[in-house]
Amino acid sequence: MNCLFCAIVAGEIPASTVMETERVLAFNDINPQSPTHVLVIPKSHYENVAELSKSDPVSLSELFDVADQIASKNALTGYRTVFNTGADAGQTVFHAHLHLLGGRALQWPPG
Ligand code: 5GP
Ligand code: ZN
Repeated sequence: MNCLFCAIVAGEIPASTVMETERVLAFNDINPQSPTHVLVIPKSHYENVAELSKSDPVSLSELFDVADQIASKNALTGYRTVFNTGADAGQTVFHAHLHLLGGRALQWPPG
């Protein structure tokens, strides 16, 4: 399977790792949209969060737990978690990933 994030999990493509557990990997986004912009992903491949939710809810829950731990380590006073699902929502990598955004005032609604 030709998947960028599977290649990062396999160590074939380098990434700036922030945190790792048995099931989850967190690394800095290559094109950050805020001072903290971390991608938190299941090591196993699921196309989007809906597939992850159906197949592996334990890992889905762990993504949020890892994101909260990173937010605490970075002393974020608030943060946003985002899953883009489908190209029309801006999904470009079809391996489920949670965006953790923080470190600046975040606009709402996001647009
Ligand atoms: P999506 O648009 O699918 O929700 O998010 C994909 C994210 O992956 C984007 O924010 C993009 O900047 C990031 N990204 C794309 N290629 C790479 C890469 O090779 N390394 C890292 N660390 N992030 C990447
Ligand atoms: Zn993958």
